[in-house]
Amino acid sequence: MIYKQNLHTHTVFCDGRDTPLEMVQTAIEKGFDSIGFSGHSSMYKPPRNGMSPDGTVSYRDCINSLKEEYRGRLKIFCGIEFDMYSGIDLSNYDYVIGAVHFFKFNGQIVPMDRTSQVVQDVIDTHFGGDGMAYAKHFYSELARLPEFGKCDIIGHFDLLTKHCEKIKFFDEDSKEYRTAALEAMHALCGKIPFFEVNTGAIARGNRTTPYPAPFLLDEFKALGFGAMVTSDCHDRRYLDCHYEESYEYLRAHGFNEIYVLTDDGFRAERI
Ligand SMILES: [Zn+2]
Ligand SMILES: [Zn+2]
Repeated sequence: MIYKQNLHTHTVFCDGRDTPLEMVQTAIEKGFDSIGFSGHSSMYKPPRNGMSPDGTVSYRDCINSLKEEYRGRLKIFCGIEFDMYSGIDLSNYDYVIGAVHFFKFNGQIVPMDRTSQVVQDVIDTHFGGDGMAYAKHFYSELARLPEFGKCDIIGHFDLLTKHCEKIKFFDEDSKEYRTAALEAMHALCGKIPFFEVNTGAIARGNRTTPYPAPFLLDEFKALGFGAMVTSDCHDRRYLDCHYEESYEYLRAHGFNEIYVLTDDGFRAERI
């Protein structure tokens, strides 16, 4: 059974291609019964991929009016993809995805994943060319997310591997890498209940497999995290990208349920 819900959806309010209305129409066409929007939280310094403070208000107004307009046809949730340094109020959302896309060095906000060139520049400039130091920094930042706000879902746990199918910035199979990743997961256990199998990098041609890697999926299971499937959609054509395969991926690693968001909160569903 595939649950047609996507809680990780971007629009023109941040770095997505489509308007919320277009996304809603596509969700209905593709047989979804619900969709959640997750605009990037505002960052106070450029480069921006997030929503401005004013834009955040317009975003919420827009999603909330669509909720009313489509009541009975499509359930719509208003969430946010929260970056720890964005410093925004998280109280006005149906749910929060917590994620690391930026590092902070000496008060300066630096994007860490956007392109492989960006990754290389960050490694060279801030880690003396040491890719493993970059990886360890990513996970130590991720582990601190709950200090900055209450999150429901860990977004793309191993986002730092986005370009690693093409360029090996660090050895993903090494004990050193895996230990850093698993330590972050243990730190988040009991603080953020859900993680996502996130297919966004597949839709954008960066990866052939979703986040997270298999060894991480096994540990999420062992620690009792709840799973969900999302497409981190920035383009409505890919709203259900790789869903079937992601369910299969979860089942193959022992998951027999996923979590979906309802009017009464998150609920487990058998898969
Ligand atoms: Zn993200
Ligand atoms: Zn996203």
